[in-house]
Amino acid sequence: MNKRIIILGAGESGTGAALLAKAKGYDVFVSDFGRINETNKEKLTQAEIPFEEGKHTEDLIFNADKIIKSPGIAPKVEIVQKALAKNIPVIDELEFAFGFTKGKIIAITGTNGKSTTTMLTYHLLKEAGLSVGLGGNIGKSMAGQLVNLDFDWWVLECSSFQIDGFADFKPHIGILLNITPDHLDRYDYKVENYVASKFSLFKNQDKEDYALLYTEDKLINANLSKHRFSSKLFELKFEDIPSEGAYANPSGIIINLNGRKNTFAQDLLTIKGKHNQTNAMASILTAKLAKVKNEKISESLPKFKSIQHRLESVGNIHGIEFVNDSKATNVDAVYYALDAFTKPIIWIVGGVDKGNDYSQLDAVSTNVKAIICLGKDNEKIKEYFKSRCPIIEETQSMQDAVKMGYKLSKDREVVLLSPACASFDLFKNYEDRGNQFRLAFQLLEREIELKKISQSC
Ligand code: ADP
Repeated sequence: MNKRIIILGAGESGTGAALLAKAKGYDVFVSDFGRINETNKEKLTQAEIPFEEGKHTEDLIFNADKIIKSPGIAPKVEIVQKALAKNIPVIDELEFAFGFTKGKIIAITGTNGKSTTTMLTYHLLKEAGLSVGLGGNIGKSMAGQLVNLDFDWWVLECSSFQIDGFADFKPHIGILLNITPDHLDRYDYKVENYVASKFSLFKNQDKEDYALLYTEDKLINANLSKHRFSSKLFELKFEDIPSEGAYANPSGIIINLNGRKNTFAQDLLTIKGKHNQTNAMASILTAKLAKVKNEKISESLPKFKSIQHRLESVGNIHGIEFVNDSKATNVDAVYYALDAFTKPIIWIVGGVDKGNDYSQLDAVSTNVKAIICLGKDNEKIKEYFKSRCPIIEETQSMQDAVKMGYKLSKDREVVLLSPACASFDLFKNYEDRGNQFRLAFQLLEREIELKKISQSC
């Protein structure tokens, strides 16, 4: 009899896993406690995969040989706990997909910077003409893609929730960008558990593999010696020069590899700020390890478009730049955003607080000329910054926030949406918040244009 695989959660990754499992001859059943979207239902129906929604029927689930769980389902939910108690392995979609690829894996994790580094790495490999796929926490499911094709390389964005579902998953190149306390509710409020999850990305690597870590990150540095690496370790640094690895200085990103030094000039980079230098170090070093030629890397770097909602410049009005950093949902990401600008900032901040400690921003908030709070409850922000920032305004409308930003700013200043908070008090998600920011900017631009025309008539 065919082995039975149960998929919990029919989002992008779950549906992809179901399609791959079916294609590989498993007996597949999909169970989602919420509603399944129409597109995914259609895909499952066409592949003749039975599914249920709005419930988990235990009799149909606990006869599984293996469960593939959506990373969004916390391990402590009852159905998962019961399955584990029955010794049914519960794995992640990437773990399952890993078993069906012949390609080499580049796996990227960190509290912040995963998407940017994943996209930049993918871009460098693709532009160099390599056969490369993209997956994980971004874009299309790896498992779903594997139904029809495979690549020589896979660049995968890995959240800690996904890593927690890895057993045999073995990245040829593993990247750890940074660790700051986040999602601690999933880790019994113990930072060490979250750190352990991130470091376990490297657990199956061997001496043919590579581990790239930003070792000046406090938590990475403090925990480095506690972890044994079987792979070759490369450090990413600013302060001093690693014998092998990457570092950055004002002249460029420098890669030290096999006794050779290669410099990639700063002006080749299209992404701003110190944090993006770390991301670029990781991506360029990875491209070098994948044997991409220096000239190709230098040619491709300037063609990289910064990704939406991450320090994304949406445009200028009268020399005032409007920047959408809606994905900055924690204080650490905002630290780097504020640090990325030398010009005065009108900062739009707020939303659902995740236990933020705003004193972490003291060193970089000196550039902030005005604060516009955009949240249902702004008391904590107002209280902390009232003695530190001369102007603090408040609104619950994105359009008002953008207009206020414009009114409060002058030529060569920047209106920056970098919320430090989750979005669901006023918006559907961070994308919705960022899109509304862009739309509000476009409306304002049009309004100003129309005013100019009517004045000249
Ligand atoms: P992730 O996928 O890990 O959430 P993103 O690339 O989407 O990371 O970026 C999320 C936020 O973090 C953005 O506000 C971005 O400007 C910021 N950021 C990007 N790279 C880093 C980094 N290396 N360190 C700290 N913050 C970063």
